[in-house]
Amino acid sequence: MINPSGISSSGVEAWGAAVLVVRVLLATPLPFAGGELDYITPQPVALGTVVIVPLGQRKIAGVVTGQAAGDVDEARLKPVLDWPDIPTIDPAQIDWIRKVAAWTLASPGAVLKMMLPSLRFLEPLPVATGLVGAMPPDDTMAKKRRAVLEVSFGADPMTRADIARLAGVSPGLVARMATDGLMREEPLNNKGIPRPDPSHGGLTLNPEQADAADHLGKAVAGRDYTPFLLDGVTGSGKTEVYFEAVAKALEDGRQALVLLPEIALSPATVRRVEERFGVPPLLWHSGLGQKARHENFRAIVEGGPRVVVGARSALFLPFADLGVIIIDEEHDPSYKQDDQVVYHARDMAVMRAAQEKITVVMVSATPSLESEVNAEQGRYQRLGLSQRAGAASLPEIKLVNTSLTPPERGSWIAPPLVTAMEQTLAAGQQVMLFLNRRGYAPVTLCRRCGEKVSCPNCSAWLVTHKSSGRLRCHHCGHGTCFPEQCSTCSAEGEMVPCGPGVERLSEEVSRRFPEASQAVLSSDTVGGAEGLASVMDDIRDGRVDIIIGTQMVAKGHHFPGLTLVGVVDADLGLAGGDLRAAEHTWQLLVQVAGRAGRGQQRGVAVLQTASPETTVLQCLVAGDRAGFIAFEKAARRESGMPPYGRLASILLSSPSLQGVDDAAHLLRRSAPHYEGVTILGPAPAPIAFLRGRHRQRFIIRTAREVNIQAVLREWLGPIRLSASVRMQIDIDPHHFM
Ligand code: ADP
Ligand code: ZN
Repeated sequence: MINPSGISSSGVEAWGAAVLVVRVLLATPLPFAGGELDYITPQPVALGTVVIVPLGQRKIAGVVTGQAAGDVDEARLKPVLDWPDIPTIDPAQIDWIRKVAAWTLASPGAVLKMMLPSLRFLEPLPVATGLVGAMPPDDTMAKKRRAVLEVSFGADPMTRADIARLAGVSPGLVARMATDGLMREEPLNNKGIPRPDPSHGGLTLNPEQADAADHLGKAVAGRDYTPFLLDGVTGSGKTEVYFEAVAKALEDGRQALVLLPEIALSPATVRRVEERFGVPPLLWHSGLGQKARHENFRAIVEGGPRVVVGARSALFLPFADLGVIIIDEEHDPSYKQDDQVVYHARDMAVMRAAQEKITVVMVSATPSLESEVNAEQGRYQRLGLSQRAGAASLPEIKLVNTSLTPPERGSWIAPPLVTAMEQTLAAGQQVMLFLNRRGYAPVTLCRRCGEKVSCPNCSAWLVTHKSSGRLRCHHCGHGTCFPEQCSTCSAEGEMVPCGPGVERLSEEVSRRFPEASQAVLSSDTVGGAEGLASVMDDIRDGRVDIIIGTQMVAKGHHFPGLTLVGVVDADLGLAGGDLRAAEHTWQLLVQVAGRAGRGQQRGVAVLQTASPETTVLQCLVAGDRAGFIAFEKAARRESGMPPYGRLASILLSSPSLQGVDDAAHLLRRSAPHYEGVTILGPAPAPIAFLRGRHRQRFIIRTAREVNIQAVLREWLGPIRLSASVRMQIDIDPHHFM
């Protein structure tokens, strides 16, 4: 720190005539004009310098964006408080932040806050120290003290805990010996984070892979903005290909960012990166503790070759010199963030890559329709992988019409799937059942009056969880005991769970296959990353016969012994009827089916459906991806929906029904009339009451040429809503609940 103590007001006077005025973009979502304010400083500061400034009583991080313009009244300005010791932020990154803000209609400060999320990260890491013995062990000492000196005298410094463990004593004793002068503090030797090695591991690529890797490598080395769509069937070795692009960035001493859907940030992925580059990647996701975040943030901002593997928020980190961005499973809905700054990480990544001249690679076996069309129209360069790597071939897909061969009463697995499971188990292979429903039963109702148990805070049914014996709301977390009595008709003992969740499916599996071992994988049953890792090991090593899971099992995993995938309800995703229902169903089912037959044996996927004639399912069975895409494109084009038109959503919410209705009327009255702009609504959102707030929605649809942000800015700019009403604007909405 140049000025660790901050500047007192007398200090400002002491700067005298040398005072300069700088403009600072503040990392805060607080709304004020442009997000920028002027401050004074005693010394010239470069553009992009990170500073700490006062805002009211608070200290806030910011970035210097220029000299103050026009007349400024220096006497009224506050001084910069601090210049943290971190490299300046490249002006291209600041331009990108402004672009993200303009695109999402968020404030630039709110976007910058994602780049500089904590004041603490701006401080240098504490220097870690360890202890060494200060004198040789001596026979006259107590036995335990001698043991401590035996392991620590003349050795490398170690933490107190490590010394205690090695010597078989309590850490408290080691601490007391330090106080007594028998131990001495020294810096720990292993502090720096080891650097990845681009040539550590790596398979011999097949010709298709090698060709794709070559294109990527050249683009990274060329340091130009080149967007790629790496489009290859499940198991075709896409990961190995993009690792080559990562390696190229590392060779040039630059950083590589691999974005993954949160759910795919599994220990298996981390292990794969480690096997390829010799050291684990730097991680960035919601489960990471503050200390690890601080360390990783410093490593990222300070530069040098690094592999960063993270969820969508990692895109916003202030990378010192980013060489490539990989967006694995680019079609995944979890790349969309729905609160605070509402953005799609794929789209913002492409924007960042264009701004900073970076290679960006979108990776998927089932690209989003947007990326598909971008590749078709030449905006992205497509690299295709048509074969599974190694010996594996793609699974065969079969439909089971549950109208013709329904499951028995109280069961969910239809006879044809039962038979297939029996055969697979008899052959000593593994089965996976997929049902995208957590818990035991999605609905609980009264047999007497038909009343369903719903959440007091949301318009949603409570889900029964048998493992915990409770009913839970999956939207707000509200929980309650399983009711003995109906709250409407007061009937006793008439409440029954209806429909299946994975827990209930597991009961049926135990009943039908008592000999088989099973594992249920859902966010409720798996205890964090470690729990998941141990279940995954059990599956890989063949200690599990039947895997039952929610979307947690759909992607990324590689189980060589798995040859049968059963989808219990292939129609589930189509029920909501939102814009991308068919597309998401297609993607999910291809991914799930793609778990089967990744080893030597060919796999089969059996899909249970009540409507086998739908286009999605027909195309899946026929392996007709082009047919499905053509169908989906035609439907979107006809209705003027993305990617052929633009869409935005405005969600109004308030604890008061009157409040939200008034706001909706106000917006409706001032809605603009433009050619090519359709404004639908207000209408109650599908979940009209959520976490105690009533919700009304507008949908705005425009032609592609229309600047939808400009339309919204003009419409909403002058609107003043009452304090209880929240307005959330979503450009290109993906979730409509
Ligand atoms: P994808 O990312 O396309 O699903 P992966 O990269 O996970 O595919 O590869 C699937 C499996 O094939 C992995 O076990 C991987 O190690 C293996 N694999 C990939 N490329 C090769 C190759 N060139 N030779 C041998 N095995 C490969
Ligand atoms: Zn709720």
